[in-house]
Amino acid sequence: MAREVDLLIVGAGPAGCTAARVAAGQGLRVLVVERRPTVGLPVQCAEYVPAQIVAHVPIPETCIAQRIRALRTYLPTGEVVETPAPGYVLHRVLFDKALAVAACRAGAEIWTAARAVERTPRGVLVRRGAGLEEIVPRILIGADGPLSTVGRWIGQTNAELIDTLQVEAVLPPSLAEDGGHECTHVYFDPVYRGGYGWLFPKGETANVGVGVNRRMGGDPSRALAHLLDRLRIRPGDILGHTGGPVPSGGPVARTQVGEVLLVGDAAGHTHPITGAGIFAAIVGGTLAGQAAVRAVQTGDLSALEEYEREWTAFLGGPLRHALKKRRYLDAHWSDDPVALSAALRRTWIAFREYSRPEGESETTKSTKVTQEI
Ligand SMILES: Cc1cc2nc3c(=O)[nH]c(=O)nc-3n(C[C@H](O)[C@H](O)[C@H](O)COP(=O)(O)OP(=O)(O)OC[C@H]3O[C@@H](n4cnc5c(N)ncnc54)[C@H](O)[C@@H]3O)c2cc1C
Repeated sequence: MAREVDLLIVGAGPAGCTAARVAAGQGLRVLVVERRPTVGLPVQCAEYVPAQIVAHVPIPETCIAQRIRALRTYLPTGEVVETPAPGYVLHRVLFDKALAVAACRAGAEIWTAARAVERTPRGVLVRRGAGLEEIVPRILIGADGPLSTVGRWIGQTNAELIDTLQVEAVLPPSLAEDGGHECTHVYFDPVYRGGYGWLFPKGETANVGVGVNRRMGGDPSRALAHLLDRLRIRPGDILGHTGGPVPSGGPVARTQVGEVLLVGDAAGHTHPITGAGIFAAIVGGTLAGQAAVRAVQTGDLSALEEYEREWTAFLGGPLRHALKKRRYLDAHWSDDPVALSAALRRTWIAFREYSRPEGESETTKSTKVTQEI
């Protein structure tokens, strides 16, 4: 027999669990289905969040692996620039679990090892083990990540993706010197085509990875080998491997179609320049949950339309700005370290020029400060 709920959420990542907590907390009957057997595992993330995220979600002390004070950017010319970037490298598995616990405590139900496989005229078929169950929701939220199935059902998918590979390695001793373990480190090189390499310290270990654009000729394995060699990380110091796609083309055209909403990576809310998406997943999840509450409480599904306006008011400007910078950087990517560094100076978040709108003349002083996400 079909199960009826007010809200079905596909995906128990930060976006899905946040929407679930908000909606269940206001009395909606909420079911979250998660295809993985364990919430939060495997971790596919470098785990950095900016300090301002605490205005939107509590970060339990136990979820903090490393406090971060600054970002060090390594340009292809060899120049190193340090900029303040207070934040945390999380234990993402604990963070995702804390969000799931909060959703359950608010009254939501989470099914793990439960995959949304098909849309039916009334709802969604969910596969659990050998069984198929039909869920009939009033509202459906796709919080199912960069390759969203729900997005495909409504014709809204991420067209552009960056490919990443990451290892967890023993923190190189040289990085513990001169406060390097309190910084995130971002490396640019022509080899990291359309992306960058990173080292984010995490206590005694570090997340070390690369993201590249395959359409620009990027090769993730080659890029990762280059970065590990550069950082003198020995194969014997590598404790784990991960990776995954990151949306880089900005928001999908429509994040609300009828009774369906998309949030987080599924909505393309990931920052096109940095690839960060946790903050936006929490903000978008909150707004989607609130929109679902209004729609169910008033019995008027058109209340869902406000979701798109609300996230646009908060995230739209920074995402549009970052996408323009992405387009400029991709178009000016170069094998020449000097030319690439020049392009990075106007497109990477560490530089003042980042806040200048693309297309504005070099000499124009911009007073606009772009909200970073
Ligand atoms: C290597 C790497 C490093 C990154 N580093 C950072 C970083 O340092 N900081 C940062 O802010 N962001 C980072 N990101 C991006 C960040 O991980 C995402 O933006 C964030 O996880 C988005 O959250 P979400 O809830 O939208 O999606 P996800 O966390 O991807 O959650 C989606 C969930 O949906 C589930 N799912 C998918 N399809 C189905 C289905 N059909 N049925 C049921 N469940 C389904 C998945 O199993 C998954 O659990 C990184 C990404 C990668 C790949």
